[in-house]
Amino acid sequence: MTPEGNLLIGQQAVRGPGAAIHAINPTTGETLEPGYAAGSQAEVERACELAWTAFDTYRETPLETRAAFLEAIADEIEAIGDALTERGMAETGLPRARLEGERGRTCGQLRLFASVVRAGEWLDVRVDPALPERAPMPRPDLRQRHVALGPVAVFGASNFPLAFSVAGGDTASALAAGCPVIVKAHSAHPGTGELVGRAVQAAVAKCQLPEGVFSVLYGSGREVGQALVRDARIKAVGFTGSRGGGTALVHAAQSRREPIPVYAEMSSINPVFPLPAALKARGEEMAKAFVGSLNMGAGQFCTNPGLIIAEKGPALDGFIAAAGEALKESASQTMLTPGIHDAYTQGVEKLSRHGQVREVSRGKSGETPNQCQSALFVTSAADFLKDEVLQEEVFGASSLVIECADANEVKQIAEHLEGQLTVTLQMDDADLDAARTLLPTLERKAGRILVNGWPTGVEVCHAMVHGGPYPATSDSRTTSVGSAAIFRFLRPVCYQNLSDALLPEALKESNPLALRRLVDAKRES
Ligand code: NAP
Repeated sequence: MTPEGNLLIGQQAVRGPGAAIHAINPTTGETLEPGYAAGSQAEVERACELAWTAFDTYRETPLETRAAFLEAIADEIEAIGDALTERGMAETGLPRARLEGERGRTCGQLRLFASVVRAGEWLDVRVDPALPERAPMPRPDLRQRHVALGPVAVFGASNFPLAFSVAGGDTASALAAGCPVIVKAHSAHPGTGELVGRAVQAAVAKCQLPEGVFSVLYGSGREVGQALVRDARIKAVGFTGSRGGGTALVHAAQSRREPIPVYAEMSSINPVFPLPAALKARGEEMAKAFVGSLNMGAGQFCTNPGLIIAEKGPALDGFIAAAGEALKESASQTMLTPGIHDAYTQGVEKLSRHGQVREVSRGKSGETPNQCQSALFVTSAADFLKDEVLQEEVFGASSLVIECADANEVKQIAEHLEGQLTVTLQMDDADLDAARTLLPTLERKAGRILVNGWPTGVEVCHAMVHGGPYPATSDSRTTSVGSAAIFRFLRPVCYQNLSDALLPEALKESNPLALRRLVDAKRES
């Protein structure tokens, strides 16, 4: 399979009318063919029309059909074989092993959602049977299930060309919920997006679903992306990317005649709190593990540890020195795009020139284009509290250590933080009281709290929360990773006094789908 440069609208491959977007190989600087001519309002219109037409049929497909569809997508992606990895490597500079792992994760999460769809727990069926004899007022028959929101616009991420892109977590969870999906493909890896998009198209045909269940559009976010979000037939948005891009889409969605939810995963600096006993006992070992996490994927992870907060003293000095030494040995790595590389370089220079920030060390520099040279800085708690700039995400392998006078100042910094995807405690038994004191604050700040691990590496499972208060995401009540992501694209509907003949399958008295319902306040086994 080779990329052809087409938009995928339903089952059609369409050449856009606009200017062509070309991916750039970040390792060589070479422009990659083919070009992807941008879509216009007409292509947005056509994809939305097809999605809307497909919606009522698709949302009521039998659970088995929908589960088999998600599995068919995974099979089709695997069937592309090495062509997908090769194209991904050329468009992102990511190494083969990383992309193969990401393909496994992408197919794994599609299959996870297939199992979730089959189990049917997400329908959350509740039945409160009629109580005609109840005094003073009888109770009507009340039944609740969850239904799909409607067609969803998905904006893929630059840093996960497979797992958070065309058939990534947003798409998988929206399709699982019964929502057609229109993807605005990321301009940095259009060919990877097309190959995956064609795999989804093939699965749609194989499962004999309405063609509007899935489309992929190319073009600028500000034009094609905004037009998509403003279309009245789109009922929710999934996004992974910058704070600016996500916030712009939230505003676009809120200024519609019918405002819609935007689930944007944006900016997080993932603070790590090495507590005193742990820092004293194993500061050096901790420093090496920290540098390993910081450098992973050239730091281009939304869970990259960008902040270390600890009480100052010899133990923290030792940690900083060991981390600085380990960092000096870090090889440079190719970043995803020239734009991300420029933003990283500017972010690091801003810290380097900052009057209240001390540079500890830098990693090795590279000769080839778009190299990320790791960087470590130190500042004081007082200076961090004074300057908002120090809390800005530097997307890449850069981190800032905050030296605090005492435990109270550590708590003060925790209170001052913006919303985060993760917070991490490095602690030993003797740190238990300090951890207990911090925990209520950390719960208010983040979607995931870790102990003695590092935030990079997000398990795709049922208990995962990849979310958090703004600016980590635009809606702190949700997760974009794991099976609970399906709830972003559902809403509850209550059916009062509908006859059994009129009720949807999930709510019929005989429970034909064999669901574990909540009947009269008791959970069925
Ligand atoms: P981005 O610039 O926000 O782009 C993401 C997607 O949104 C692209 O498809 C882009 O379209 C579109 N878009 C951007 N601004 C828009 C706007 N105002 N209106 C409508 N659509 C818009 O993010 P990126 O290219 O992935 O990476 C840049 C920065 O994002 C990084 O430096 C980093 O700070 C952050 N980032 C965060 C995460 C995370 O998980 N938290 C992940 C990746 C990146 P175009 O095709 O026109 O660009």
